[in-house]
Amino acid sequence: MGTYSTATDRKWQKRWEETGLYKFDRSRTDKKLYCLEMFSYPSGAKLHVGHWYNYGLTDSWARMKRMQGWNVFHPMGFDAFGLPAENYAIKTGIHPQDSTLANIATMERQLREMGATFDWDYEVVTCLPEYYRWTQWLFLQLYKQGLAYRKEAPVNWCPSCNTVLANEQVVDGRCERCDTPVTKRNLTQWFFKITDYAEELLEKLDALDWPEKTKMMQRNWIGKSVGATIDFKLVGSDEKITVFTTRADTLFGVTYVVIAPEHPLVEKITAPAQKRAVADYQEFAKRQSEVERLSTTKEKTGVFTGAYVEHPLTGEKLPVWIADYVLASYGTGCVMAVPGHDTRDYEFAVKYSLPIPRVIRAREPGVDDALPFTEYGVLVGSGEFDGLTSEEALVRIVERLQREGKGAPKVTYRLRDWLVSRQRYWGAPIPVIYCDEHGIVPVPEDQLPVLLPYNVDFTPDGQSPLAKSEEFIRTTCPICGRPARRETDTLDTFVDSSWYFLRYPDPRNEREPFDQEWINRLLPVDKYVGGPEHACMHLLYARFITKALRDGGFLNFDEPFTSLTHQGIILAPDGQRMSKSKGNTISPDTYIEQYGSDVFRLYLGFGFDYTAGGPWSDEGIKAINRFVDRVERWIDRSHEIAAGGGRRAPGPAERELNRVRHYTIKAVTNDAEVFSFNTSIARLMELVNALNKYDQEVTEKDPELVAAVTRDLILLLAPFAPHFAEEMWERLGYPYSVFNQPWPQYDERALARETVELAVQVNGKVRGRVEVAADASDEDIRAAALAVGSVKPHLHGKEIKKVVIVRDRLVSIVVA
Ligand SMILES: [Zn+2]
Ligand SMILES: [Zn+2]
Repeated sequence: MGTYSTATDRKWQKRWEETGLYKFDRSRTDKKLYCLEMFSYPSGAKLHVGHWYNYGLTDSWARMKRMQGWNVFHPMGFDAFGLPAENYAIKTGIHPQDSTLANIATMERQLREMGATFDWDYEVVTCLPEYYRWTQWLFLQLYKQGLAYRKEAPVNWCPSCNTVLANEQVVDGRCERCDTPVTKRNLTQWFFKITDYAEELLEKLDALDWPEKTKMMQRNWIGKSVGATIDFKLVGSDEKITVFTTRADTLFGVTYVVIAPEHPLVEKITAPAQKRAVADYQEFAKRQSEVERLSTTKEKTGVFTGAYVEHPLTGEKLPVWIADYVLASYGTGCVMAVPGHDTRDYEFAVKYSLPIPRVIRAREPGVDDALPFTEYGVLVGSGEFDGLTSEEALVRIVERLQREGKGAPKVTYRLRDWLVSRQRYWGAPIPVIYCDEHGIVPVPEDQLPVLLPYNVDFTPDGQSPLAKSEEFIRTTCPICGRPARRETDTLDTFVDSSWYFLRYPDPRNEREPFDQEWINRLLPVDKYVGGPEHACMHLLYARFITKALRDGGFLNFDEPFTSLTHQGIILAPDGQRMSKSKGNTISPDTYIEQYGSDVFRLYLGFGFDYTAGGPWSDEGIKAINRFVDRVERWIDRSHEIAAGGGRRAPGPAERELNRVRHYTIKAVTNDAEVFSFNTSIARLMELVNALNKYDQEVTEKDPELVAAVTRDLILLLAPFAPHFAEEMWERLGYPYSVFNQPWPQYDERALARETVELAVQVNGKVRGRVEVAADASDEDIRAAALAVGSVKPHLHGKEIKKVVIVRDRLVSIVVA
């Protein structure tokens, strides 16, 4: 049995702490490396396997980079505001501040026990006034830059959580947190104008070293479409209906126009005879959720308004309908219906017996282009544009509309502005005051933070809990000094996490959120690691805030995270997602108690493809435990070999051991760089095998080589098993600390395998020579021998009866 245990962990954690081993060196920014994991939400009292997988292995990567000479900045903190703590408080009566701070204390201790290189001098906790003061400052900068604004808008409302949800927090029409169907409500809300940055957010994705899938998700989320706006004049009125379309090539196929039931134009244009039907339909539409309305499988419904528009090019009279498949909040709230070439419009036209003409046919004859035909093709029934391809027609038709003042090219984005108001308690108060005389007045920066009061009734009832605190609301107008009221909404927690990486380098700065000169030297984050579930919220918001602060003159870089890696998910042993309700969770503490934290970390590294994850296995961790024991036995054995003395001239066995050594250095260096920890650790196991093989097969050994290879083994293992490696390093007699050693370098020349030259005989006569690897297989040797140029003519037209291989000497080919 090996000696490694949690006692070893504690011994080295204490030493690291005492010697300040992981303190960031602020003087060396020339080789800085900012390595960051997405900080955690202190919702539970303990670290779970997911935390370990994310933080433990990213720490291994950071340790390797440190040994490679990088000045690694590796901070840690807590995303401490938000709904879970508030909901927990509602359930248990424990104040969110108390439960959050208690959880943070526990998690901090556990993170220290992980033995990670976090420099706690730079800790950030978003729910503390010293932090959220600057979150409020951020809000004020955006307000000054015209990027924060207030408007009444229908918002997603979770009736169970009693709060507004961002679009991103609605999953399949349900609340992301509690799965309740989401409804709509009109509220005056604060928004951040992320849409101003839609194009840059899209464009700058290309150059980022991010997973392709994540970039694609952001592209889809931003949803750029290049199209045109087209005006349809109302018959007998000066009003017009403007639509947005990406398919102007189908303009001659328009047979009706549809507007959203809640569109303000509806009241104006509805013919008296249709008023009753339209009003009934509006009532009906109000009861549908947005998701139901957009569902492709739902039967289409609608009502004729009695109004008509003119086709902009043909002048034909087209009826105007209202239908709930068009939403007022998307595009212009009006669409031109082309039933021949749009599936939704087709279903609607069939149901209400509207005409369905063809204006596009397939490019190739014989291709099925039955209506509705939604592909690009060639124009027919489109007047002067007949015969053009869709691509050509898109340009030419919009050109004509533009000449006649009936339309214009237009780019649109699916991205909506970011709704940041929350009617909840546990968040940063929005730093705004309302004065009867002066309207919206931002809180002066020198009066920040607007403190979140402790004693507030936060039982959810749809109102902002802060609205119930007279003490909080009542204030004076900073301009006129007369009584005024504070904003009672708090900020979405995604605002807190949209800039935390900017606070880490300078977390105790009381004059400003960060020192500009310093932050511009330390940022951007070089490596960011976290879950793929943040692809469209956190990661997009952080990019937006970085750009907004750049334009505010605070930052000199465009993107916050140069390189991004997503870890996979560790599943329960049954292959299911771990959950408390299923009772299939793995508790890291139990395993760490039994095996030590390095065995736990090594198993997470070895047992899974980092970006994929997979099911937990108790057998796997036992195997890793045996490997650690095996390394320790080898360390002791290497002492005996050193004590044995003697030395022989290096021969093939030494060259082979040296080859495996350099091959291991190369493989671990390259694989760990790209977070391929499982293959890195597999190579280390092979190196231990090679050492044992050498020991068993060679009687008179080379102690210097054994010592050098053993030293490299511990250096390479150190990032993955930091406490154990430090212990073995000490046992080998080297000075503290293994982490102050340079990372081993490989020698390309040593990588070549030993080769031997073999004579090649044909029917007993030497006809050539061939060089092969010393450990080449019989098959490879045979193939190499048969391919030798001087041998081939002697085989021509003959049948090969037999090939005999005499290792290290010759290949004998018998032909007839
Ligand atoms: Zn909910
Ligand atoms: Zn005033």
